[in-house]
Amino acid sequence: MLGGIEAGGTKFICVAGERPDEIMQSARIEVTKPAETIGAAISFFRRLEAAGGSLEAIGVGTFGPLELRSGNPRYGSILTTTKPGWSGTDMLAPFVDAFGVPVGIDTDVNAAALGEARYGAGSGPDSFVYLTIGTGIGGGAIIGGQVRHGLPHPEMGHVAVPRRPGDDFPGACPFHRTCLEGMASGPAVAGRFGRRAELLSHAEREAAAELVGFYLAAGIASLVYALAPERFVIGGGLAALPGVVAAARRELPGMLSGYPGLPEQAADEFVVAAALGGAAGPTGSLVLAEEAALRG
Ligand code: ZN
Repeated sequence: MLGGIEAGGTKFICVAGERPDEIMQSARIEVTKPAETIGAAISFFRRLEAAGGSLEAIGVGTFGPLELRSGNPRYGSILTTTKPGWSGTDMLAPFVDAFGVPVGIDTDVNAAALGEARYGAGSGPDSFVYLTIGTGIGGGAIIGGQVRHGLPHPEMGHVAVPRRPGDDFPGACPFHRTCLEGMASGPAVAGRFGRRAELLSHAEREAAAELVGFYLAAGIASLVYALAPERFVIGGGLAALPGVVAAARRELPGMLSGYPGLPEQAADEFVVAAALGGAAGPTGSLVLAEEAALRG
């Protein structure tokens, strides 16, 4: 059996299944202190083993930023985070120590991108970018089947975006104020309208979708030039706001201004909604487990 954890900032989703697309067991754990939360995740897998399940490998897709350079002594640890108490938390060793099986680890966004790559809206092209828009904005690039890492991984939500004419919102990113995340994340929408996107009136939802779509298109344009992906897949809670993906598609040609002018970049299939919804992360964590099992 494969085990997986989608470790988000407010909840951990623990899953298990024989294949990534067949989740047989799952549990939701509220995030508190690191030792307590990780301990609860370990207990979930111990219960599975006590019930006769045999864990072959575990995959962890976690919020970050995360150290992902394999030779680094802090490999698998969360770097400096605004989440109280979690900076420096080792997200890898507790599971290796508890179960003695291979453990694969990546960011929650990259795990969701892997889920969409294998079973969802990213399953066709050789290269695509998954963007999640919710409490934060994150992106994962899969190029030639490989997740793009580096120093230590992309932070696409923090690309600079132009201000939309008439928008005087000061921005919600604690680091950059008016980056993509600062202008188009859930807190940015809530900051403008005074309440969360789910609670907006019909007219406010339409206005919010236009705003988010504009900034999303601006972010996508930068990523078009930097990475040349064949597709963008949009997931996360705010992607469910009706009209967001359509607004991004509509705004993108204006952002690209006819350069490089490829018809593929104007096609509806270039920017699509994610297919797996909330299952992308848990499914991707099981893909990480499967890859770890194959590496041994
Ligand atoms: Zn930022």
